[in-house]
Amino acid sequence: MNEAIERAAQLRRLLHQYGHEYYVLDAPTVPDAEYDRLYRELEALETQHPQLRTPDSPTRRVGGAPLPQFPSVTHVVPMLSIRTETDVTDQGALAFDASVRRELGLDAADAPVEYAAELKFDGLAISLRYEAGVLVQAATRGDGATGEDVTQNIRTVRQIPLRLDGEPPAVLEVRGEVYMRRADFEKMNERQLAAGGKTFVNPRNAAAGSLRQLDPAITASRPLSFFAYGLGEVRDWPAMPATHSGVLDALKAFGLPVCAERTVAQGGEALARFHAGMGERRNALPFDIDGVVYKVNSLALQRELGFRTREPRWAVAHKYPAQEALTVVEAIDVQVGRTGALTPVARLQPVFVGGVTVTNATLHNQDEVERKDVRIGDTVIVRRAGDVIPEVVGVVLERRPMQAVPGGDLFDAAQQPLHPPYRLPAQCPVCGSHVVREEGEAVTRCSGGLICSAQRKEAIRHFAGRRMMDIDGLGERYIDNLVELDYVHSVADLYALTLDDFLEMKRRADERDGVTPETVQAGKIPTKWAENLIAGIAASKRPPLARFLFALGIRHVGESTAKTLADWLGSLAVVRRAPAALLRVLPDVGGTVAEAIAEFFAEPKNEQVIDQLLAHGIAIADEHAPSAKLRDKLFAGGSKPSAELLGALGVARLTPVRSRQLSDALPTLAALADADDALLAGLPADVVAALRDWLAQPVQRQRLLELDALCRELHAALPAQAASEGILAGKTLVLTGTLPTLSRDEAGALIEAAGGKVSGSVSKKTHYVVAGEAAGSKLTKAEELGVPVLDEEGLRKLLAG
Ligand code: NAD
Repeated sequence: MNEAIERAAQLRRLLHQYGHEYYVLDAPTVPDAEYDRLYRELEALETQHPQLRTPDSPTRRVGGAPLPQFPSVTHVVPMLSIRTETDVTDQGALAFDASVRRELGLDAADAPVEYAAELKFDGLAISLRYEAGVLVQAATRGDGATGEDVTQNIRTVRQIPLRLDGEPPAVLEVRGEVYMRRADFEKMNERQLAAGGKTFVNPRNAAAGSLRQLDPAITASRPLSFFAYGLGEVRDWPAMPATHSGVLDALKAFGLPVCAERTVAQGGEALARFHAGMGERRNALPFDIDGVVYKVNSLALQRELGFRTREPRWAVAHKYPAQEALTVVEAIDVQVGRTGALTPVARLQPVFVGGVTVTNATLHNQDEVERKDVRIGDTVIVRRAGDVIPEVVGVVLERRPMQAVPGGDLFDAAQQPLHPPYRLPAQCPVCGSHVVREEGEAVTRCSGGLICSAQRKEAIRHFAGRRMMDIDGLGERYIDNLVELDYVHSVADLYALTLDDFLEMKRRADERDGVTPETVQAGKIPTKWAENLIAGIAASKRPPLARFLFALGIRHVGESTAKTLADWLGSLAVVRRAPAALLRVLPDVGGTVAEAIAEFFAEPKNEQVIDQLLAHGIAIADEHAPSAKLRDKLFAGGSKPSAELLGALGVARLTPVRSRQLSDALPTLAALADADDALLAGLPADVVAALRDWLAQPVQRQRLLELDALCRELHAALPAQAASEGILAGKTLVLTGTLPTLSRDEAGALIEAAGGKVSGSVSKKTHYVVAGEAAGSKLTKAEELGVPVLDEEGLRKLLAG
């Protein structure tokens, strides 16, 4: 009994502390699942020993005390909590239905109970008071009886109407949840981080922390959203619906946001289906939910069922597996990426979170490690929400392993952490090269470049990836061995590998690992796998330009930039020669990106690799003339350089206005190189001086002349028609089946280059269906609708005009 008394007191103390941090400070130090576990333990103890119950036990109270900084509001209808059902299986729904039926005295022969099923939003409860349709007060839940007046802050939440539509009752208190969408939360945290401000651990705390601000201007700057889910005090509503779902429909008609993801369900099994169905879609929702809520739909039955101490008997929150959990950091390792970026990764005691077992979580970079002060041995909160990579969001400092301060006297209780703060190593853990962190950059990089096998492996892995060269079968293990045993130094070496190379590599890897496969023991040497790999490599030799550029792993060049380069410049030869100034005029290509691309192609080692790839027979499948749109970007009529191009040269003081003036004055780009005073006469003296300084540098003059030469060539090669007026402009095509020589991507790229659009489904608006072997339902549909069907030959003829 003594043990039980002590444990109950300890649990109450912990729950009070965690509750205060969560409800009052909006800064929880442990995940909800941990709070819930302790809460259930206390509840069980109190049920077992009712004499242990105290009036202030967390099991008897709602929320936390309101902050004194806000005026307080007394709730005429208290704001209660909801009982939580933590059995995440169907059983949770069935048990609730059974308890409702028991309370209502129904037996098996009676009809199913009707429920309203909705989402449990993870935010902050709020009560909005409308009088004669006008918002007069907004209050938080506080301790359920008394909340905080946050009217000024709530007025800044755009989604909350200040005046209701239609004919609202004389007094209408709307209960609902203020929350933050996941994407808004991430953007806000990024902004806070950039401004050196406080970041929030999850959207719930961000929403609560943003709403309970003393300065409404701060609340206004935070992206808050709102959903209504119920009622408080109501006066004079003759047309008040008789069901909860009817009330929500009415609130929606008054202009309040009500979540569309809800249903009316008959009986427990229908609730279980709603729970399971929503569970599958949980990650796809734009906001966090931690469960679903079931409510008895009839308001009359709700009244009959009534309340327990802190929660109604007619509702329950049926939870989902938690997205945050506690675990211990066993070690902190460093991963070296393709660009040499060092990423600290926490190795964790396996923990089930967000529906999967997590063993690693990223710590991003040195700044993040310092900000969170994550150390080996720490108990940490791991978060995995949606499909996001698991992340350590914080440390439970009170559980940090400590040791006595050495030399401290025996009676001195001074303690210090067992482990020092973590620092990234000064040397690359893979190749030993020193690491560098550039000014203003968060990332620390290995300086080893291609001597670093980690970078080489990652570069090859990227190159071979599905959305890049798509080399079938070239998995991680093969790449590791190819690099470690020195068969491959650059991606070009892949195309020189022979069957013997692969077999020898395998033999040496087995020797090194001390394994003798059964087949080898039996005197056989399997070769099929190596033949398949060679075939996979050979099959990757005709990539579309965009994929090839993406595969090269140029810094800052992702899939969409690669596509821009391919669409606008058309061929590898032009991309390779394009100076930064020309790249900068392309849409969405900024200075840093343009420099990175130009630098990549100027680097002799990279040039060599590309030449080798071409020598091994890599041929871009979809090269075409540069886009006609480029003409307007580069030239201001005839061969005059455009203001945009001149602005992209990077000459100091050459503002957009001055660039336009200069463009008017210049007949060609080359004319700038020898511009005399007369030509520049219209420009202010400081701009002329800056231009002269710039031209005085031999490199700049040289680059200018190269740019001019390329522009002149492009001018001659540019198709007269804009792509939007291309041969397939305005036409929609659908591809189906396997074409004899072109892959889907290649055919798609050719169609797009000719101004056409590729769609995934056939309709009356489809202009052509291009069908290959084993074409399926799309072909049938085309025939039904009378859409013309082409084969590859037909497509080529169409493209050729
Ligand atoms: P609750 O938040 O679980 O449930 C009640 C609340 O649900 C209501 O106040 C309302 O705001 C909200 N809600 C969302 N959607 C709703 C809907 N459709 N209909 C009705 N209500 C809806 O209960 P609680 O009493 O506020 O607190 C318990 C929760 O808080 C637990 O999940 C617990 O883990 C967490 N908590 C965590 C800590 C911590 O330290 N991490 C501390 C205290 C509490």
